[in-house]
Amino acid sequence: MSLRDVAVAPPPGLAGVDPALIADLVDANRILFRHGVVDAFGHVSVRHPLRPAHFLLSRNLAPGLVTAADLVEFDTESEPVGADPPRVYLERFLHGEIYRVRPDVTAVIHSHAAAVIPFGIVPSRRLRPVFHMAGFLGAHVPVFDIRCCSGDATDLLIRNRDQGAALAASLGAASVALMRGHGATVVAGDLRQAVYRAIYAKTNAELQAASLALCAPGEMPVYLTEAEAATAAASIGGQIARPWGLWVQDAWT
Ligand code: MN
Repeated sequence: MSLRDVAVAPPPGLAGVDPALIADLVDANRILFRHGVVDAFGHVSVRHPLRPAHFLLSRNLAPGLVTAADLVEFDTESEPVGADPPRVYLERFLHGEIYRVRPDVTAVIHSHAAAVIPFGIVPSRRLRPVFHMAGFLGAHVPVFDIRCCSGDATDLLIRNRDQGAALAASLGAASVALMRGHGATVVAGDLRQAVYRAIYAKTNAELQAASLALCAPGEMPVYLTEAEAATAAASIGGQIARPWGLWVQDAWT
């Protein structure tokens, strides 16, 4: 058996859940680490396929180390289900509150990817799609500022349901919300697509920063139009199978 075979083997606590989904969630953790979207921090969840008000998320662990045995079911309060729960992520509430108000969302990824941070702290420079792979960013990427609801002395973390709900409200119908001075949260109707979006949101931020640095005084990059972004998102969205196989192989070698 390979390292991956052992890591994705469904644990007894997840009986009934499609083993392929469990494998995808373990792979997603590895892939996001390998691509530098998450480091020791950050997390990825998936809506529970049998109890859609619940979700699956790792216990408190660096994503690059997550195996199926580390996955925990969380309830509508973003609390772990079952007796004697393990230590869990402080920011689990952002997952639960997004699933609550976005029935179309099946996967949520939270990261501190460095490349996106500048676009959350310079109000005149919003994250916008600069190439066809990032059309999902759309016309407007919201920036959540925790001072909106929790004052100006927080540690910027989403530590409770109210803060999670405020982030979810800021996200609205978008696929990405930046979080000022903190990171980003990416959602999709499919786990693999969420991973794709998290990777390419980071790449887009890198390209956009490079483009802005090249601009002459007064010049601005030529961004995708709103219609181009929508067309590209619909077109590329059907291509996820190709990168996924490569990413999985790369993540375990
Ligand atoms: Mn965080």
